[in-house]
Amino acid sequence: MKRLLIVFFSFPFFLNLKAQDSTQPAKDPTLLIYRAMFPHINDLVNTKLDVRFDYSKSYLYGKAWITLKPHFYPTDSLSLDAKGMDLKEVSILKGNQHSPLKYNYDGSTLRIHLDKTYRYTENYTIYIDYTSKPNELKVQGSAAITDAKGLYFINPLGIDKEKPIQIWTQGETESNSAWFPTIDKPDQKQTVEIIMTVPAKYVTLSNGKQVSQVKNADGTRTDTWKMDLPHSPYLVFMGVGDYAIIKDSYKGKEVNYYVEKEYAPVARQIFGLTPEMMAFYSRILGFEYPWVKYSQMTARDYVSGAMENTTATLHTNAVQQDARQLTDGNKYEEYVAHELFHQWFGDLATAESWSNLTLNESFANFSETVWFEYKHGKDAGDAQNYHDIEKYLADPANPSKNLVRYYYPERESMFDMVSYSKGGRILNMLRNYVGDSAFFKALNVYLNNFKFKNAEAHNLRMAFEQVTGQDLNWYWNQWYFGSGHPIFDINYSYDDAKKTALVVINQVQHTGKFFRIPLAIDVYEGGVKNRYKVWLGKESDSFYFTYNKKPDLINVDGDKIILCQKQDHKTLENFVYQYNHAGLYLDRREAIEYCSEHQDEVAAQSLLKQGMRDRYFDLRNLTMNSLDMDKPAIKTAAEPILLELATSDPNRTVQATAISLLGSYKKPEYKELFVKKTADSSYSVAGNALTALSLLDEAQAYQLANEYSKYPAKGDLLAAMSAIFIKEGDESKFDLVIDGFDKMPMSQEKFNQFPEFAALLLKMQNTDQFEKGVDALVRFRESIPAAQRAELGALIDNNFLKPIGQRKEAAGMKEQSDYILSKINTK
Ligand SMILES: [Zn+2]
Repeated sequence: MKRLLIVFFSFPFFLNLKAQDSTQPAKDPTLLIYRAMFPHINDLVNTKLDVRFDYSKSYLYGKAWITLKPHFYPTDSLSLDAKGMDLKEVSILKGNQHSPLKYNYDGSTLRIHLDKTYRYTENYTIYIDYTSKPNELKVQGSAAITDAKGLYFINPLGIDKEKPIQIWTQGETESNSAWFPTIDKPDQKQTVEIIMTVPAKYVTLSNGKQVSQVKNADGTRTDTWKMDLPHSPYLVFMGVGDYAIIKDSYKGKEVNYYVEKEYAPVARQIFGLTPEMMAFYSRILGFEYPWVKYSQMTARDYVSGAMENTTATLHTNAVQQDARQLTDGNKYEEYVAHELFHQWFGDLATAESWSNLTLNESFANFSETVWFEYKHGKDAGDAQNYHDIEKYLADPANPSKNLVRYYYPERESMFDMVSYSKGGRILNMLRNYVGDSAFFKALNVYLNNFKFKNAEAHNLRMAFEQVTGQDLNWYWNQWYFGSGHPIFDINYSYDDAKKTALVVINQVQHTGKFFRIPLAIDVYEGGVKNRYKVWLGKESDSFYFTYNKKPDLINVDGDKIILCQKQDHKTLENFVYQYNHAGLYLDRREAIEYCSEHQDEVAAQSLLKQGMRDRYFDLRNLTMNSLDMDKPAIKTAAEPILLELATSDPNRTVQATAISLLGSYKKPEYKELFVKKTADSSYSVAGNALTALSLLDEAQAYQLANEYSKYPAKGDLLAAMSAIFIKEGDESKFDLVIDGFDKMPMSQEKFNQFPEFAALLLKMQNTDQFEKGVDALVRFRESIPAAQRAELGALIDNNFLKPIGQRKEAAGMKEQSDYILSKINTK
């Protein structure tokens, strides 16, 4: 699964964000529960389902034939997970005979008394006739579940004319048992056959191969999907809706993209790299794509980012970017790579328990790095790697969590940036340590040992030890079964008399734990690089290097691979040399960051000019965004380069950044450029150009915003238009802004548009319109994924709803104030 994780750095809006309750919650008693492997009494063998849907009630009418066998010990009973179902029949099949069985059912677990004691050599088949009612599920008798329904009916009555009618399922972690009875644990594996009867106008998707399609007289159609290879219950999937299916292929296997029809023309731009990814991953793993087909489908109102259902990945509809959005690049390429890699790591070889989630998610996360490195170059892979370190560090709770955790508050909490971002970096460091060929050989051994099975983290260690012939307990103990990361303080001193350099590396994490780290130190002397391989392991490690001529640079962690934070006490000259000669993405990034802190120095200014033309777009953007435009020297030196980038940089996000900065010069001579760029196909270029123009010529910007409001706009262009309409107080256009915001799928971009949207609400005089806007905001709050809903919901309440309400009240707009304050959840 690729979780949608909203990162909030800071909002330059209203109150400070620290107004949240800072009292520590009492020690969570759920953390004391040991999360053991799930006991195996019976094992699933095969599940056959025959389902039809009642759109009017959001019910599923199902018949299940579940074949099982005792795991080892003989047993006369069977427990199945079956959440919130009505059961009509529970029997055992003897040939074609149904023999009813006694059972107890508490609405969650179905305990069946078998007709006799079975041995592990005997398969038996249970038949269950049931109704599944996902919208009526309750958590411990309280609120209705929104994130664990398993089965979702989207707009089933067709009331919302703007929204398609869809059905989709989401099993992970243990929600599929809300729509079919099963043993809902990741360490069960079964073959599956699903027979779905749906309105004939819709298409269906499920795991494995579609083996038949039969049209029925009543306007329905029955599709049968068969998954001949065993996989876990949480990976079972159904999707139904009105989709265009774009057909692609990989080595004769079907590769399909299910998108809403208006996105058919861009489906290949979004998903079209899939066959190349399949070839790439198959090759590096030495393990051919294991399943019969691979399809990807989009979902409205999805509860996550994307999910790797075996052969049938489901994506949030945010992946459906239009042609203009795609001009800036496909923001969801990493999702496509991530879910595909899960087809091996997660679906084929599966984590034994949620405690070992790293065996699924760290690999999928790591796969993004290797894909970007392969497809877009080393800088792109390194950037992906670096941004994941940032994500792990963004939450101060992360460094205290082990990667493999047998104690956790609830299953969903395992899906954090430790399992994903940190775990991915741990694999990337391991690749660097053992070397590419040993690394991928070990993955091959692991896959061969655990295909169609389950594994825990030690099984992965064993595969690496088998291939490398080295004991790796130290690595696993430190990174998998331990927490945190090193924080380095690195100091250099040079003794020219003795021609000796001293490098002192202190570990200053202050956790009492010192990391054992294999490290490359590169010494650059007279244009020649000498690499020294050393080990760290103490609170303070010192290394001496002799030289003839004082080194231009000593570069600790020459491969820039270590998951760490650091204070690296290099000089400006060192960093300039590092930018030009060490040359990795992170070498250059560090130099740019250092120089952006020293913008008064000429050498730093000159490096920043270089950084504006860095070969990698991400660093061009970083450099531009670091420029201190209040410094005349910087502003003057940057101008010609900004103009060049704004006009013709091959990357549109760079053009957009440059245009935005160029706007701050307020020079009439740029007006023509800005006007021209407002018509650019990229929303970010067009939006930034419109904003830049508005600083020069408000009237013309307003006139253009009016012109562009006749067509659909998204992203920065919509934001720029909104800002102009708000400034002009043009309430007739506010509906357009509300609709634009409302229609954006749940995403980071939408969250980032909050401040503008809130400013609009503040401005609104018309109460009907205001309420409409508040409703859109509340809808957004309610659709935040469960893992972050409480935290972000409180943030939205305290920092947006409450202050807007207070200001409306102060302005004497009682009706508006009452309305918005009534929507606050957080007390
Ligand atoms: Zn994942």
